[in-house]
Parts: sequence; structure tokens; C-alpha cells
Amino acid sequence: MNHNTIEIDDVHKVFTTPGGDVVALKDINLTIQPGEFVCLLGPSGCGKSTLLNAVAGFQPPSKGSIKVDGKTILTPGPDRGMVFQEYALFPWMTVEQNIQFGLEIQGKTHDEIEATVTQLLDMLHLKDFRQRFPKDLSGGMRQRVAIARVLALDSPIMLMDEPFGALDALTRRNLQDELLRIWERLGKTILFVTHSIEESIYLADRIVVMTYRPGTVKRDQWVDMPRPRDPASPAFNDLKRELGQLVMEEQQRHAEAEMKLAAVD
Ligand code: ADP
Ligand code: MG
Repeated sequence: MNHNTIEIDDVHKVFTTPGGDVVALKDINLTIQPGEFVCLLGPSGCGKSTLLNAVAGFQPPSKGSIKVDGKTILTPGPDRGMVFQEYALFPWMTVEQNIQFGLEIQGKTHDEIEATVTQLLDMLHLKDFRQRFPKDLSGGMRQRVAIARVLALDSPIMLMDEPFGALDALTRRNLQDELLRIWERLGKTILFVTHSIEESIYLADRIVVMTYRPGTVKRDQWVDMPRPRDPASPAFNDLKRELGQLVMEEQQRHAEAEMKLAAVD
């Protein structure tokens, strides 16, 4: 088996709630090759975060298995780094301290830590912000720090849950470009959750469109367009229209499910 291949085999996830069982994921089968940039796309509630959390090892599946490098994932591990939408930074630490925190835990030497932190501050254009605290940074800058912090640990797999969802359009595009540059340079495997069709086409080698409840794979779509991709190009817009149709069907199912619930109340 290839190094760091992610194998998702027949994954089901059921949440037991006071209102009954919620089947969040059903029959998910995906193999993600090392170095692939994969987007999980779908409207809210279709199980994107549930699947990502299962790969992260936060929430094991109810049935089926997830393997990395042939080994079943049961807990979080250093081979998988996670970036959340809400900047999970330590507010009492400076930018520098946030980035080096994980390295200290790994027992790296002072010189190794200094070299890594300097390189990452440089790579993510954070040099002038080294001694700042998160509260004094913009949302975009905080996400840069969150990405630097995951990169510091050198995990071959990056899991990202709508990491740019809270950013304005311009900052978002900047960070997308930044992420692509890092991905091309470092050869990471990226599993990236988004509900933005445009974002998924701009970024991914492969887009996995999910259905709404139960979350299944509706479409496994390769994106064969050279980068940087032009959102104004005909090929981009053709794919956007096609995927838009698929996502809209699922949004519709979501709306219908909510109306049924409202009728019961
Ligand atoms: P997405 O990230 O695509 O918006 P989620 O993975 O968060 O979707 O949720 C998928 C479904 O599972 C939703 O219907 C949600 O309400 C349900 N769900 C998620 N987490 C829990 C939980 N801890 N307990 C009960 N239901 C949950
Ligand atoms: Mg989510």
C-alpha cells in the first residue's frame, strides 16, 4: 500500500439522539492517493464534518473502517493535521508561540524549533506578526497562523473543515492561492470540506459531492484543469453549473426534510 493512502471502506455513522437515530453517513467508499487535493462538497447537514472527523480520529465510524497507510484510524495522530473554520489558536500565546507549541511537545531542540518557525513565518507572510496575539490579527491572518501550526507538525495529511468560510472574498482567494502554493511545494494530501462550489473547483484535483441525509457519495468528479484556474473560463463555468445542479438537488432534499419536521411539530 502506498504511503499515506487514505482508504475509507463502507463507512456508516449513526448518531443516536432523543429524537431518534440520525444516519449521518452511509456506504462511504473512497480511496485518496498521497498528494491528492480532494474537496468534500455539499450543503450543510450532509455529513462533511462527520466524515472529516472520522478521518481525523475524533469520532470513529459506527461501521466500516478508515485506514491510513494500511492501519485503521481509531484516534488522532501526528500523520493528520486539522484546520478548523474557527481559528483554534491559543489566545494567550503569541503567533510564534502558537506555531511552536506542537514542536515543543514533540521534544524538538531549540535550534530545530527556531528554524521551522522562521521558515513558516516566512512561507505564510507572518514575519511582522511574530509577537502579536491572535486578538490583534485579522481573520485571514489567524487562519495563516492555524495553517502554519499544522504545517509545523509536518503531517503528510491536512484535514481542513471550511477553513476559509468566515473570510471575505478577497482574503479567501489569497489564502486559497497560498494553500495551493504550499500544497504544490510540500506535496501534502489535503482533504478539504467546503459548501462553496466555486472554491471546490478552484482548489481540487477531485470533488466528492455528498447527498443530504444520509450522507453518501453522489458524484466523484475529477477536475482536469490546469492551475491557476480562471473562474471566468468556460470550462470552469460548465463544471460549476453541473455541480451546482447536484448540490441544489440536495439542498432541496434538506429543505423538504425541514418542512416535514415543521409539519410534525
Ligand atoms: P456538514 O458538515 O455537512 O454540515 P455534519 O457532518 O455536521 O454535516 O452533520 C451531518 C448530520 O449529522 C446532520 O444531520 C447533523 O445534524 C448530524 N449530526 C452531526 N453531529 C451530530 C451529533 N454529535 N449528534 C447528533 N447528530 C449529529
Ligand atoms: Mg460541517
